[in-house]
Amino acid sequence: MAVLTPEQEASVRTQFAAGAAAADAKPAVRETQVQLPPSLTVKELADYLHVTAVEIIKELMRNGIMANINQQIDYETAAIVADTFGVQASPMAMDTAVVEAVAEDQTQVKMTSRSELFSLEGEAAEDLKTRPPVVTVMGHVDHGKTSLLDAVRQTKVAAGEAGGITQSIGAYTVEERNRRIVFLDTPGHEAFTAMRARGAQVTDVAVLVVAADDGVMPQTVEAISHAKAAGVPIVVAINKIDKEGANPDRVMQGLSEHGLVPEKWGGQTVMVPVSAKLKTGLSELLEMILLVADLQDLKANPAKPAAGTVIDAHLEKGRGAVATVLVQSGTLRVGDNVVVGHIFGKVRALLNDQGKKLKEAQPATPAVLMGLPDVPTAGDIFQVVSSEKVARTIAGQRAELRRVAALSKTRRITLADLASQVEQGAVKDLNLVLKADSNGSLEALKQSLLKIQDPKVQIKIVYEGVGPVTESDILLAAASNALAIAFSVKPDVQAQRAAEREKVDIRQYDVIYNVTNDIGNAIRGLYEPTFVQVWEGRAEVITPIRIPKVGTIAGVRVQEGKITSGSVAKVSRANQLLFEGPIGGLKRFKDDVKEVTAGLECGIRVDGHQDFQQGDIIESFQVHQG
Ligand code: GDP
Repeated sequence: MAVLTPEQEASVRTQFAAGAAAADAKPAVRETQVQLPPSLTVKELADYLHVTAVEIIKELMRNGIMANINQQIDYETAAIVADTFGVQASPMAMDTAVVEAVAEDQTQVKMTSRSELFSLEGEAAEDLKTRPPVVTVMGHVDHGKTSLLDAVRQTKVAAGEAGGITQSIGAYTVEERNRRIVFLDTPGHEAFTAMRARGAQVTDVAVLVVAADDGVMPQTVEAISHAKAAGVPIVVAINKIDKEGANPDRVMQGLSEHGLVPEKWGGQTVMVPVSAKLKTGLSELLEMILLVADLQDLKANPAKPAAGTVIDAHLEKGRGAVATVLVQSGTLRVGDNVVVGHIFGKVRALLNDQGKKLKEAQPATPAVLMGLPDVPTAGDIFQVVSSEKVARTIAGQRAELRRVAALSKTRRITLADLASQVEQGAVKDLNLVLKADSNGSLEALKQSLLKIQDPKVQIKIVYEGVGPVTESDILLAAASNALAIAFSVKPDVQAQRAAEREKVDIRQYDVIYNVTNDIGNAIRGLYEPTFVQVWEGRAEVITPIRIPKVGTIAGVRVQEGKITSGSVAKVSRANQLLFEGPIGGLKRFKDDVKEVTAGLECGIRVDGHQDFQQGDIIESFQVHQG
């Protein structure tokens, strides 16, 4: 162990004394899981672990590290210390962690969650001002989302400014009865849920567009689920009522079957007939949006340094990085020091959605922000801080956080650790996204799942649908911390990529009993992890290739997905499985490669198998612990 200098010893002694005094005040409960920032002080770690700083200092000394109570230690060290106290550490999620407070010397920052940042708790009532609602337009393709956004924009932008409309910045503000409404102009539930999966919550009201001549369609149903999963109220715009064959009653009937019952039939959902083409019904729609927004009592405190979310960002010639931000609390001003993700800079200019220069932007104002040295990511948080030095410190912490987070991904629910998450009280609902091959099997699966009763966990079906698992399903699962169940269907390639990226557990089944059995066991903590094979891709043999000393390999073209070296290959001929074994190597031209994607040709060596014929199919599977 390291030997202390007299000064160090004195310092440790005083800290021991301080720690001992503070010890009584510590609560007895200790979590078994904790999320830690990339670096923190000894004191902060003690708070996270509910132990005294002295205990932390002792433990660090045991590991040969001399630290005082205010010393910064890195995540890895903190995690090791946490472990000795029986607490499992995971890194704080990059996109949810934001800065709360800054120490005197402006080099130390403390992280807090996004929901805490935007929480109105603790704000004085007189500081809170009503703010405009933020609206996202959703609905089935071709039902008129874009047309409706354009129509509203053309007719409802405040008088006198309409002429100034320039290019779209990702959001715009309209006026109705002297009140403002903000429309996000990237329509669709995919964009909405992608933002949510990144932790961003900007939408207050969802406008669901349904074409009166077409009725409720698959993406209409998807949109309803996505809005409901986010807890965002829905206002229905029954569009294209000008068209022959328009049948608003049929739309209302269809929506009622999905839980949206119109007010005129005794339900709760506001439905407004509109025509984006003739620009009729728009004022009524906006009034209804305001009405629904009023029920939520939307407020913000403009008298604070600004914080909000990046809606859109890109690089522009001559202007550099251009980011559209939505101010969600406080007031953003030209000259402010701002940090966005791991980027920091000074606000050089602010423009509104008509390209006019602004001096400041209040809550619920979309604004183009210029002055960042780099392009941030949509969904990132931006925050104004007191100085450039603070901004730099935070940006550095975020970059480090990103590195640490990359090492160990944010925890998402999996069957394997469901029981332990339930035990810790971290999970009360088991959210599921169900996809099946037919309505019949979907219904049967759903009924069986809902029969599983457990006092600790409630099964909630966030979304159900027929067809392959898509990227949008995975984003919804990620945003709702749900498991994805694929019943007699496969995830498509984008969905698999998204699942890998977002760490969503996709479970593939063909037998209902296996689904209910696995989930029932997982809840009761009896789940035995098994090895599951996840389909990756498919290739067709063009020709066998004989290679001296190696043997015969398959010259193939990858048709779907990807083939990876080291995965499991299933070789089949005329739909009959011939062989199953590991892919020993992949070659493109002369090079050994790790993976080959659809559309490309390559050579595949399958260990233990050499009998290839033209037309044979090789499918590649990754083996995961399930
Ligand atoms: P999106 O895919 O939901 O964004 O739909 P679009 O806005 O691109 O509209 C799809 C098609 O429907 C276009 O050809 C529009 O001109 C047409 N359309 C949209 N709204 C109306 C409407 O109110 N009446 C009629 N007759 N056509 C409409």
